[in-house]
Amino acid sequence: MSVPVSQMYTVAHYALSQHLRGVKRYPLVMMLEPLFRCNLECAGCGKIQYPDHILNRRLTPEQCLAAADECGAPIVSIPGGEPLIHPEMPAIVEGLVRRKKYVYLCTNAILLERKLQDYTPSKYLTFSIHMDGLKEEHDHAVCRDGVYDVAVKAIKAALAKGFRVTTNTTLFNDAAPARVRRFFDEMMELGVEGMMISPGYSYEKAPDQHSFLSRERTHSLFAQLLAQRKRSWQFNQSPLFLEFLMGKREYECTPWGNPTYNIFGWQRPCYLLQDGYVSTFRELMEETEWERYGSGRHEQCRDCMVHCGYEASAVKDTFSSWGGFFGTVRATLFPNAV
Ligand code: SF4
Ligand code: SF4
Repeated sequence: MSVPVSQMYTVAHYALSQHLRGVKRYPLVMMLEPLFRCNLECAGCGKIQYPDHILNRRLTPEQCLAAADECGAPIVSIPGGEPLIHPEMPAIVEGLVRRKKYVYLCTNAILLERKLQDYTPSKYLTFSIHMDGLKEEHDHAVCRDGVYDVAVKAIKAALAKGFRVTTNTTLFNDAAPARVRRFFDEMMELGVEGMMISPGYSYEKAPDQHSFLSRERTHSLFAQLLAQRKRSWQFNQSPLFLEFLMGKREYECTPWGNPTYNIFGWQRPCYLLQDGYVSTFRELMEETEWERYGSGRHEQCRDCMVHCGYEASAVKDTFSSWGGFFGTVRATLFPNAV
C-alpha cells in the first residue's frame, strides 16, 4: 500500500493552485499539539519539559477544529506529547476527517492497540508511529526497555484492522547506517505504508545535548542511508527533501509551511523554535518577521534540516519550477540516479 492517489491529488492541487494564485506563503501541514504530556521521557525530546500545570492543559476539540479551519492546510499532523492520552482525541480526529483533512496522528504506540476501537479506518487517518530504529536503538532512544516490541505489536494490530500506518524516525549522531537500513527492511516487512525520517532538532530543553547532528554529519549520514536505495523502501516524504538531507540540494527554510498550534496559541516561527505566540493564524502569517529565521540567520536554526522546515521548501520547488518538477519525477522513478 502507498499514499492514496486522492491524497497526492489533494496536495498537488492545493500547492499548484496556491502557486498559480501567486500566494507567497501558504501552509501545507498544520502541526496540532493538543497537549504536551507524554507517557515516555525520551532524552532527545524538547516538548515535555513543562511544569505539571502546563502538562495538565489540553486543547478542546472545538479549539482544534477552529484552528484547522482557520489554517486551511490539507494535512494535519498531531504530535504531542502523546495524543492518545487526550480523552477527546477520537472527537478531534473525527472532526478533522469530516473536514476531509488528511490526519497523521503521531504516537509512541504504547496505548495504540487498546485505543484502536475508538477510531474508524479511513483514507484520511494515518497512525504515524514513533520508531527510532531497531529494538536496541529504539528502546535506548525512548529510554525504556520493551517499547519497540509494544509498538510492533500495535502496528500489526492497526494494519490488521485496516488502518493506514506509517513510521516516523528521528536520527541522532550515533545512528549506524547499516543498522538503520536493516530497520527500513524490518518496517517495510511489517507492512507499513511508508517511513518518515528526519535528523533530530537540537532543542535547548532536551536533556541529551550531545547527540544532535551538524549539517555536515546529516549530509554524510543520509547519503549513506539512502545510497543504493531498495525498491521496497517507501518514504512518506518529498523525494527532493530526501535529496536535501543527502546534501544534493540546498533549500531555504519554509517555516510557515508547517504552522504550529498548541495550548499557547500559534507558535512563532515554527514547530521547533519557540519565539513567541499569537492568537490568530492571520497574525502568524502576516506579522511574523520570517526573514529572521533559517540557517545563517538565527543561531537556533544553524544546523536544522528538519522536515517541518524544509519539506515544504521541497514541495514548493516541485510546483514552482520545471527543474523542481522534473527533479521530483526523476527522483521518484530513479532514486539511485546520481
Ligand atoms: S514519545 Fe515523543 S513526545 Fe513523548 S517523550 Fe518521546 S519524543 Fe517526546
Ligand atoms: S531552520 Fe526553520 S524549521 Fe528549523 S528551527 Fe529555524 S525556522 Fe524552525
